[in-house]
Amino acid sequence: MDLNYSTEELTFRDDVRSWLRSNLPAELKQKVESYQELSKDDLLGWHRILAKKGWVAPDWPVEWGGTGWSVTERYIFEEECGYAATPPLVAFGLRMCAPVLLRFGTEAQKKRFLPRIYNGEDFWCQGYSEPGSGSDLASLKTRAARQGDHYVVTGQKIWTTLAHHADWIFCLVRTDPTQAKRQDGISFLLIDMKTPGITVRPIILMDGGHETNEVFFDDVKVPAENLVHEEGKGWTVAKYLLGYERMGTGNIAVSKRELARVKAMAGPLLDDPRFRDKLTRVEVELMALEITNMRFLDQLRGGRAPGAEVSLLKIKGTEIQQALTELMVQTAGPFAQAFRPVNGPLNDHVGFDRLTASLLPRYCNVRKATIYAGSNEIQRNIIAKATLGL
Ligand SMILES: Cc1cc2nc3c(=O)[nH]c(=O)nc-3n(C[C@H](O)[C@H](O)[C@H](O)COP(=O)(O)OP(=O)(O)OC[C@H]3O[C@@H](n4cnc5c(N)ncnc54)[C@H](O)[C@@H]3O)c2cc1C
Repeated sequence: MDLNYSTEELTFRDDVRSWLRSNLPAELKQKVESYQELSKDDLLGWHRILAKKGWVAPDWPVEWGGTGWSVTERYIFEEECGYAATPPLVAFGLRMCAPVLLRFGTEAQKKRFLPRIYNGEDFWCQGYSEPGSGSDLASLKTRAARQGDHYVVTGQKIWTTLAHHADWIFCLVRTDPTQAKRQDGISFLLIDMKTPGITVRPIILMDGGHETNEVFFDDVKVPAENLVHEEGKGWTVAKYLLGYERMGTGNIAVSKRELARVKAMAGPLLDDPRFRDKLTRVEVELMALEITNMRFLDQLRGGRAPGAEVSLLKIKGTEIQQALTELMVQTAGPFAQAFRPVNGPLNDHVGFDRLTASLLPRYCNVRKATIYAGSNEIQRNIIAKATLGL
């Protein structure tokens, strides 16, 4: 979308663009553009390049490393990263645990964890969901029993994204099973993944990639100083964090790059009125989403935490991502049909290039987007109750 940028903003955009051009390693860009699985080193490598420049956490308070950019500058930065095809910044530390610590953490917790998150020294993951406790998260059973100066944690988390890379996990645990209101017995704990008693087992997704895991806790001793906020107040922390999580699921800048790519790949399909109709619908929805996102960013600038209405960004953003993968598969015609697991060998004799070979696995992979961070059905329930008052 063309905004009327001021001269200073245009200069800022040019600076960001040229810095990205010189500092984004070519092989990372190529991996992102061809949808290859990114290793821990790929993810942290880019994180650290940005941290060194001072740009890894623009929205943090300046005293902890934030850039102090205006909402427009932050928007420009996101846009430019999207165009440049930078690897994603893993949100668990930067955009989930950090806002929680800034809001609810003690000074000691902030000093201990925030600089390490900033510099990419600790890789975090999120331990919310359990078997049987996804949408109905408040039913979670992982138990944390207080014994002197530590908790003993026993139970299981599931779908834990990138737990196999993680140094730390932030977890919702049940500290008081006797509370009549289930939410009241839940606490928020930070757990070192190297603690004895933790086992991580992979769950392979339908594209063949290893992103998610089961995490088992077997009498895991966690120091009581790793409790965030008060015992039994974990639900308040959890909800605050989910607002930030859902803000980040729109992926607008990436969708804009994908949309441009679909157009470039479509060729004669652009003359097909049904294809053109679908493409135009996605484009209009993406423009509408972008404007909505800017409204929310403006509210954040005014110091308001993201509220229930960010569910809208999650629903629309993920529907658009899925629609774009469908259009891409269509552009590849019959070549898209042969399935090749992500990062598997190329089947050169049937004329595959790396991009074409990645389209169907990507289509399969992005099915997850309407499930994680709270399924889209649940987001609709939230909008109905909290925003529309139904
Ligand atoms: C790829 C991926 C990565 C994930 N990463 C993480 C992670 O890192 N950490 C983490 O803690 N969790 C993670 N999750 C878990 C995710 O948050 C849950 O899968 C999600 O909340 C849905 O819960 P569930 O799987 O238990 O499904 P269920 O809650 O059993 O839902 C099954 C179906 O029923 C629908 N449904 C359920 N309740 C209602 C209702 N009240 N009204 C209408 N429809 C309803 C749902 O929309 C869904 O379609 C991840 C999930 C995926 C797929």
